[in-house]
Amino acid sequence: MLYKNFIDGQWVDTATGKTFKSLNPADTSDELGEFPASNAQDVERAVQAAERAFREWSKIPAPKRGELLFEIGERLKRHKEDLAQIMTREMGKVLKEARGDVQEAIDMAYYIAAEGRRLFGYTTPSELPLKHCISFRRPVGVVGVITPWNFPIAIPGWKIFPALVAGNTVVWKPATDTPRCAYEFVKILEDAGLPKGVVNLVFGGGNDVGIPLAKHPKVARISFTGSTETGREIYKYGAEKLAKVHLEMGGKNPIIVLEDADLDLAIDGILWSAFGTTGQRCTACSRLIIEDGVYDKLLEKLVERTKKLRLGNGLDPTVDVGPVVNRAALEKIARYVELGVKEGAKLLCGGQIAKDGDLAKGFFFQPTIFADVTPTMRIFQEEIFGPVLAVTKAKDFEDAIALANNTSYGLSSSIYTRDVFKAHRAMDEIEAGITYINSGTIGAEVHLPFGGIKNTGNGGRESGWTAIDEYTEWKTIYIDFSGRLQKAQGID
Ligand code: NAD
Repeated sequence: MLYKNFIDGQWVDTATGKTFKSLNPADTSDELGEFPASNAQDVERAVQAAERAFREWSKIPAPKRGELLFEIGERLKRHKEDLAQIMTREMGKVLKEARGDVQEAIDMAYYIAAEGRRLFGYTTPSELPLKHCISFRRPVGVVGVITPWNFPIAIPGWKIFPALVAGNTVVWKPATDTPRCAYEFVKILEDAGLPKGVVNLVFGGGNDVGIPLAKHPKVARISFTGSTETGREIYKYGAEKLAKVHLEMGGKNPIIVLEDADLDLAIDGILWSAFGTTGQRCTACSRLIIEDGVYDKLLEKLVERTKKLRLGNGLDPTVDVGPVVNRAALEKIARYVELGVKEGAKLLCGGQIAKDGDLAKGFFFQPTIFADVTPTMRIFQEEIFGPVLAVTKAKDFEDAIALANNTSYGLSSSIYTRDVFKAHRAMDEIEAGITYINSGTIGAEVHLPFGGIKNTGNGGRESGWTAIDEYTEWKTIYIDFSGRLQKAQGID
C-alpha cells in the first residue's frame, strides 16, 4: 500500500512523487508499505500548516488540550496489540518489548494529559508595595520533531505529547526505517479529533526532510533523538537561527559488578540490558566492568546464559533476541567485531552474522561477548548499537568508577553491590544522566527526567516534569496597583 504525508489534516502526496519501502528486518519479503520520499517543499507546506494551526491551538485552555491527550492515550491502549505487532514486523524488537514501547507512549499520554491542569508558574513577592509579580509558561510555536527507529512509538510520544499540552504545534519527521509505525501513530491522533494542522507528518530522509525542517526559520524549537553525529549537525542549524534544540543522543552505558554483588541478579540485569532490543537501545549496556575477585566466575555463568538466548523473528514468543534493524547495521556490527578481535579482545561467544534456516531471511547477529577489553580499544569507546558486550576487569571500586567514566558518553549506568556506602558513592560519582542500583541500565519511567550528559545530550531532559521546559518559554508579569510610578532597585 502507498501511504501519504499528513499535512493540515489531509493525507497528501509528496511534491517529489518519489517513494521508499519499509521492510521487515526479520524477513525482507514482508513489506510494510511504500512511503513518500519527501523534500523541502513538503516541509514548507507542513510548517505553514503548523503555523496557522498554532493560532487556535495555543488559545485552547491547557486542561482541554490535556483531555484530548487523555483520549489519545485511551486509543493507544485500545490499539496496543496491533501497534506492537506492526512495530515488531517493522523494526524487529520482540513482541513483549514492542508492547512495552507502546505502553510508554500510553503512560506519557496519561501523565502529560494531567499536566494540562498544572503547567505551574511561580508567584513571588515584589520588592515594592502594592505590586504583584507572577510568571507563567507560554508555548513556543512550531516544534520540529526528528526521531529514530528504535522506539518508534514511545519517543514520538515523549516529544509530541508535552509539546501539544503546552500549546505548540508539530511537524514530525520519523526515521525512514519505521514509517509505518509513524503512520499508525498519527492515524490515532487524527481519529482522536486533533484539529487540522496541529500535528503534521512528513516522511523522508535526513538530508531531504530532516535538514530543511531543522533549518526552517519558522520552526521555533527542534527536538531530536538519534546519533551524536546527527545531533551535533542539527545543533548548528538551531544556533544559526537562535532556536533552542533538545538533543538525546548515543550511549556507551556501563554496568559495574562488585565482588559483594548478587551475581545471579546481576546476570539477569546484564542479559536484559545488553541483548534486549538486540542491543539497539540508547540505554543498552555495552560495557560490563567486573571487580577482579568475581571476574572469571561471573563471565563463565554469563556466557553460558548468553549461548542459550534464542535468536529469531520477534513475533515468535519463544524468541529472546530479534534481528537488527537493517543491512547497514548488520555490516557495521560485523566490522566492529572484526575490529575487536584485531585489537586483541578475547571473543567468548557469538561474533557471527546468523544465517541458519529462517535467519537467512533477515538481519541477525549472534549475541556477542568480548572479554579483556581495555579502555584504549575502540570497542570500549564507540557506540556499536547491536548485541555486543565489552567486558573489562576492575582492580577495585575506585578503578571500576574510573573505567565507567572513561567514555565520551553519559546516558545510563548501573552498579550491582550490597554495600550501601559504595552504592551511594556510585550515585554521586558515575558521570551519567541515569544510574540504577542493583538493576540493569534500562527501565526508565515516563514521570522522571530522562537524558544524558557529555556527548549524549546538551542539557535538556525528556519525560517527567522537565519535558515541559523543552516546549515552553517563561513570561514574567508585573502588576502595579499603587496608582503611582514606583521604581525598582531603590531609584528615588
Ligand atoms: P540517526 O542520527 O541516524 O537518525 C535519527 C533521525 O535523524 C532519523 O529520523 C534520521 O532520518 C534523521 N537524520 C539523519 N541525518 C540527519 C540530518 N543530517 N539532519 C536532520 N535529520 C537527520 O540515528 P538512528 O540510527 O535513527 O538512531 C540510533 C541512534 O539514536 C543511536 O546513536 C542511539 O543511541 C540514539 N538514541 C538515543 C536516545 C536517547 O534518548 N538518548 C534514544 C534512542 C536512540
